[in-house]
Amino acid sequence: MILLILGPPGSGKGSQIEKIARKFNLKLIPSPGDLFRKIGNSEVRKYIASGRLVPDELVAKLIFEEIGDTENFILEGYPRNISQAETLKNFLTKRNKKLDKVIYLKVSEEEIINRITNRRICSRCGRNYNLITNPPKEEGKCECGGELIQREDDREEVIRTRFNIFRKQTEVLLDYYKQKLIVIDGEQLIQKVFEDICKELVK
Ligand SMILES: [Zn+2]
Repeated sequence: MILLILGPPGSGKGSQIEKIARKFNLKLIPSPGDLFRKIGNSEVRKYIASGRLVPDELVAKLIFEEIGDTENFILEGYPRNISQAETLKNFLTKRNKKLDKVIYLKVSEEEIINRITNRRICSRCGRNYNLITNPPKEEGKCECGGELIQREDDREEVIRTRFNIFRKQTEVLLDYYKQKLIVIDGEQLIQKVFEDICKELVK
């Protein structure tokens, strides 16, 4: 089985991918960003150090190396646009494979903002909190005594900008993949989201 998962930042993709990979025995192919950090490819480093985008051909090469001969895997963060989707399709077709399903975790902008703006991190030990789902025992303080702060990236304006970029990128992919698309209500509890995904995958 070959899967792709799509969802805005803060949709809970990370935990779902791990659960899906474990349950269906799929290799987890890291997103391009994670892959760049993991492999430390010198060519990639040159681009990142100079603030330039890593070219599509190089991204594809690294992702496809990671896929290798694997029969069953799940992709995240690649493809991001139609041109990459076509490149992936060609790669798979040449190997008599195809993308089976595309899972879309649908979460509204307001819900994402609600989730992320409630995140806090300890300025001393780096521990993560959420004021709603995982609040500290003492307001504004970590268990280690450190002060809880909000990450610059977790502010509302930053999230709205990121969400809108995601929406623009993803709308075209959702249309491109409409035959394979599974839309899941990502605003439910993690376990319920996972159950819904499983139900659709075994259909
Ligand atoms: Zn702490």
